[in-house]
Amino acid sequence: MIFHQLLEPLSHTYTYLLACEETGKAILVDPVVPTMARDLALLAQLNLTLAMTVETHVHADHITSALHLREKTGSRIAFPAVDKLACADIHITEGELLQTGSLALRPLYTPGHTDDHFCYFIEDAGRVLTGDCLLIDGCGRTDFQNGDPRLLYKSITEKLFSLADDTLVYPGHDYNGRFVSSIAQEKARNPRIALGKSEAEFVQTMQNLHLPYPNFIDYAVPGNRLCGVCPQDLPEKMSEYCRQMTASPQG
Ligand code: FE
Repeated sequence: MIFHQLLEPLSHTYTYLLACEETGKAILVDPVVPTMARDLALLAQLNLTLAMTVETHVHADHITSALHLREKTGSRIAFPAVDKLACADIHITEGELLQTGSLALRPLYTPGHTDDHFCYFIEDAGRVLTGDCLLIDGCGRTDFQNGDPRLLYKSITEKLFSLADDTLVYPGHDYNGRFVSSIAQEKARNPRIALGKSEAEFVQTMQNLHLPYPNFIDYAVPGNRLCGVCPQDLPEKMSEYCRQMTASPQG
């Protein structure tokens, strides 16, 4: 398996490039507009064909490049089935593998950060892409997009913590320059939800974060529900973010 962890620095998002060595077919998980040219260049450099893009959830902090990648490469767009997006080609459900060549991602339905959230377990490689469900020493917030701290507690403790301890945890974001953790490390050390933290403690922690309203959410969510369209009415401070999308990336 080919595996690249790629950073989109504006929103501190990790995009994952996975590919089957035999067929040269690739999957991009959570690709982002400003780094689309970089992703296309890497696919070309590695002589890979993009088979599909896969989202962990409808993002609030950046716009997916899924639609533009489909236009440029013919890739298929996979979104959680619960989102019921007309623009998606594949509607992700738990139990239905996402496969290309010898590469297989097992979707794990992990609501709580949002009500549509999936993690992707790459069983053969002992790795799990945890999106905004489980972060290194943290977890996604639960105060918008039908987030629910009780559901997030269950998703992490019952679903992710039941994976093998040596499973590597690749998060959807890190704001402190970290890249990878493990199930054992998060079980032992995650300050919010390590083993021994009760659901009540976790819920109280999440309800007392008092995080600011995300400044891009009102544009990102509708844009992402169209599989990645840059809104027309962006305020000036946001426009640079999306302008890069229309800068006509090579490829
Ligand atoms: Fe998110």
